[in-house]
Amino acid sequence: MTKTKKTTGKSPQPAMAKGANDSMLQEFFGEEIKDIYYAEKHIIKVLPKMMKAATSPELKQAFQEHLDVTKTQVTRLEQVFELLGKKPQAKKCDAIEGITKEGESIIEETEEGTATRDVGLILAAQKVEHYEIATYGGLAQLATTLGLDEVAELLATTLDEEKEADSMLSGIAENEVNYNAAEEIEHSN
Ligand code: FE
Ligand code: FE
Ligand code: ZN
Ligand code: FE
Repeated sequence: MTKTKKTTGKSPQPAMAKGANDSMLQEFFGEEIKDIYYAEKHIIKVLPKMMKAATSPELKQAFQEHLDVTKTQVTRLEQVFELLGKKPQAKKCDAIEGITKEGESIIEETEEGTATRDVGLILAAQKVEHYEIATYGGLAQLATTLGLDEVAELLATTLDEEKEADSMLSGIAENEVNYNAAEEIEHSN
């Protein structure tokens, strides 16, 4: 990673002090970290269900891999809390609750063992990834603004992983699952 900022030899002082000295923006940033921390932990609970519901071996494997990645993302957020001088704390993220609920309805509304269900699972999973991409993109930028370079780097690392997961899901949809679903014979009840 190249930095355009001129280095003075000494590392920049973090703009964020601990606890009560936080500015309004720093406080806001901390609350948003709690939100995504909740979201990641929630995703860890949901991914095994999606893996179980998937039919395509590639999709199952993608969910398994992203579960492992997500666990390291939780650890990374705990490092962020530490850098902020705060205890890891989750704050309910309504967005992830809603997006994952939608994913559960997709499972209920589609038939087991079909490529159509896989299409739905990919669609639901990509909505999760896009929520995460939006969140990490914004928070990494904000961390930079606050002079929290180490935090920004941690968030940017996770951002890259979410983008990678998103494009992997696109690949599975484009190369396999969407086509299979289009060929799937209509089910008669
Ligand atoms: Fe994540
Ligand atoms: Fe949220
Ligand atoms: Zn929940
Ligand atoms: Fe993700």
